[in-house]
Amino acid sequence: MTALKDRLNDAALLKTESFIAGSWHGGSGGGMDVTNPANRQVLATIPDAGEAGARQAVAAAADAFKTWKKTSVFERAKILRRWHDLITENADDLATLITAEMGKPFKEARGEVLYGASFITVSAEEAMRLHGETLHVPTPGARGWTIHQPVGVVGCITPWNFPSAMIARKCAPAMAAGCTVVVKPAPETPLTALAMAELASRAGIPAGVFNVVCGDAEPIGKVLTGSDDVAMIGFTGSTEVGRILMRQAADTIKRVALELGGNAPFIVMDDADLDAAADGIVASRFRAAGQTCVSANRIIAHAPIADALEAALKARIEKLKVGDGFADGTAIGPLIHDEAVARVDALVRDAEKGGARVLTGGRSLADELGGAFYAPTLVAGGTPELEIFSSEIFGPVASVYRAESEDEILRLANDTPYGLAGYVYTRDVGRVHRMSEGLDYGMVGVNAAMVGSPMTPFGGMKQSGIGREGGKWGVEEFTELKFVLVGGIDQ
Ligand code: ADP
Repeated sequence: MTALKDRLNDAALLKTESFIAGSWHGGSGGGMDVTNPANRQVLATIPDAGEAGARQAVAAAADAFKTWKKTSVFERAKILRRWHDLITENADDLATLITAEMGKPFKEARGEVLYGASFITVSAEEAMRLHGETLHVPTPGARGWTIHQPVGVVGCITPWNFPSAMIARKCAPAMAAGCTVVVKPAPETPLTALAMAELASRAGIPAGVFNVVCGDAEPIGKVLTGSDDVAMIGFTGSTEVGRILMRQAADTIKRVALELGGNAPFIVMDDADLDAAADGIVASRFRAAGQTCVSANRIIAHAPIADALEAALKARIEKLKVGDGFADGTAIGPLIHDEAVARVDALVRDAEKGGARVLTGGRSLADELGGAFYAPTLVAGGTPELEIFSSEIFGPVASVYRAESEDEILRLANDTPYGLAGYVYTRDVGRVHRMSEGLDYGMVGVNAAMVGSPMTPFGGMKQSGIGREGGKWGVEEFTELKFVLVGGIDQ
């Protein structure tokens, strides 16, 4: 088996220590193994920087904030663009790290790196356009205006499903706005985060502005949420952990931006282009082996076309090639670990017991392929009482429900505490308006299966989160809006 560093064009991008105050930092705690889920091989062991490391990083970020916030936005944008360029120049190596530590196919991983990098340029540009306003004020002889100022140190806690894009999507707008950041990456995917830190350093991002602290999540999370020196927490992950962080942040009334779980409905109406809908479902549902929060979690088929849609999906799903993300032609890599395979299988078994039919797949391939693999699966005939309807599947399993009317479809679609992304395929212009307005989701794709872009707002309603990433909204999120009133002018 090729060693990870031999797969890299630049072996110096393989870093195994936290990055604090501009230098690499061993930490005192025990090591955390990073494992390739495709073959269970240990890729690296990362020392736990622990609470002490987290405190050091917060202190470094607080110190760096004093000067970074005063750097002209033009200068910050220039430095961030260099980071963007280094990330894109090293996209193959970053993708290699992603595929190795979380399993997604190399081509998909490379796409993720470029997608993440695009947030850096967009954020750099949007920060330059973050204008205040001059306001009328009622007091004679007074003037008022607003300015946007960076909130301060931001603690960013990120997940393993997009190891580079989730870091870029938070840190780039934060740093563009003038904030400094302490990133705690997922323990499954620290290598991508640390390579991004190396590139940040090469790009000239000053020491202390971008820190990466690896280690046990809970103590590091407590330092970040509890510290008076941290102004804001940016988090992407489960609703459950989001709730914990929000509670912890309450003591210091910290601002929170939360991108949490989803339970996306993917509605296909009887007037839809069925081929386009089936292609969209496969793209949305099976990307990253189904481990994304905007993934089509519940496919709601309008009854007249349900049989045809199921047949179209089955044909497509049976063609998806499962394997190591580095192998040519792999469409579905492993899940993040073996427990994820067991959890997904339990959902499918439960659905079957509850009366749903497994039309293809529905079994673990872990023994056969020697890693955390699960067969691409199609389940049909489920009902809302099933666990698979209400929970985020996070695996390569498409589950189809059917309903008769537009009203019933919307009711089913909104029957969840989540509200991140929803999709509807229809060619009826009235339905486009009624359904996109009726879906209680932060993002709605109409005849479109991918809703994320660097220029548009990404985020959820209900228990899917607070705040938006992307475009001007993503940068504003990291600023305070200050009002300045000046009196005694017309004397
Ligand atoms: P997943 O189940 O997909 O791993 P999580 O919400 O558990 O999603 O994890 C997302 C991120 O939150 C990871 O970086 C993880 O280490 C971190 N995390 C998990 N629990 C805590 C916690 N109690 N405090 C701070 N961070 C946490």
